[in-house]
Amino acid sequence: VPLKAVLGTYTQRQTFAPRAPLELLSLEDVKAGLSEGRINVFFQPKVSVADRSLIGVEALVRWRKLDGNLIPPAAFLPVVEENGLIDEMTDQVFQKAVSAMAAWSLAGLSIKVAVNFSVESLTRYEVLDLVHSAIEREGVDPQNLIIEVTESRIMEDVTAPLEILTRLRMKGIGLSIDDFGTGASSMQQLKRIPFTELKIDRAFVAGAPTDDEARAMLESSVALAKRLGLTTVAEGVETKEEWHLIAELGVDVVQGYFVARPMPSEDLLAWAQRNGD
Ligand code: C2E
Ligand code: CA
Ligand code: CA
Ligand code: CA
Repeated sequence: VPLKAVLGTYTQRQTFAPRAPLELLSLEDVKAGLSEGRINVFFQPKVSVADRSLIGVEALVRWRKLDGNLIPPAAFLPVVEENGLIDEMTDQVFQKAVSAMAAWSLAGLSIKVAVNFSVESLTRYEVLDLVHSAIEREGVDPQNLIIEVTESRIMEDVTAPLEILTRLRMKGIGLSIDDFGTGASSMQQLKRIPFTELKIDRAFVAGAPTDDEARAMLESSVALAKRLGLTTVAEGVETKEEWHLIAELGVDVVQGYFVARPMPSEDLLAWAQRNGD
């Protein structure tokens, strides 16, 4: 079902508590929350620049406090990663993302779902079981899944996650290089991993209309991605000006507040329908 987004018209439910001070959650809280299932997943639309149709969503983790307020990843990801809890969190996020995907599919909305993986998880074989069992249980098509990995982290050591990423790709799962432009990749290294998508970091999108360096970075990232046959995604598009610039440069997909903010899975169908033609 091709669905058209009416851009810039979406007012959403509040994502986070207003001006919540960014204090790290304590390890105790994080452990308790993980075992009590207070991990939440929001989904942000990715639309085609050509026709504004909904192509997919990115799953973004949130933390629900006991008072119901939602906490952004910056307040707990470091705690999760530094205390060996990342596999457990990724498992919960991935399961929720895949089950949302199955539910949307039943409702007639077949879209790609991207999940962020920390590079550490991609050096352990258990991650393959985690991915495989969720796919089997929900009966989703691996071709509709994308795993996003941050460029800067992957470039620290390309060899360690190479085999697992290659195996995931062989299952049909797409592989996305996230936050591109922040990690100083070398072509040589980049080409070793069978990536399918390149996400240009918001810093370059936001800077491009006024800053020549950001614009040059944006243009060369798009050119590189095209040479490598990758789908290009611009993240963090907030304004009409940015949208037009991105379209001019030939970027394939846009994700950003200009299109829609991240939202709970239950809201996505309504969003898609409201914005469908
Ligand atoms: P990211 O992967 O680059 O995700 C995009 C971030 O940009 C999200 O922040 C999203 O809410 C925000 N964003 C989207 N559009 C706009 C826009 O137009 N303007 C602005 N200013 N921001 C926009 P969020 O959800 O706070 O996530 C932050 C980071 O946390 C993510 O950056 C990702 O690196 C990490 N993260 C999120 N969920 C997960 C997860 O499940 N696992 C892991 N390992 N990392 C995650
Ligand atoms: Ca991402
Ligand atoms: Ca990103
Ligand atoms: Ca980013």
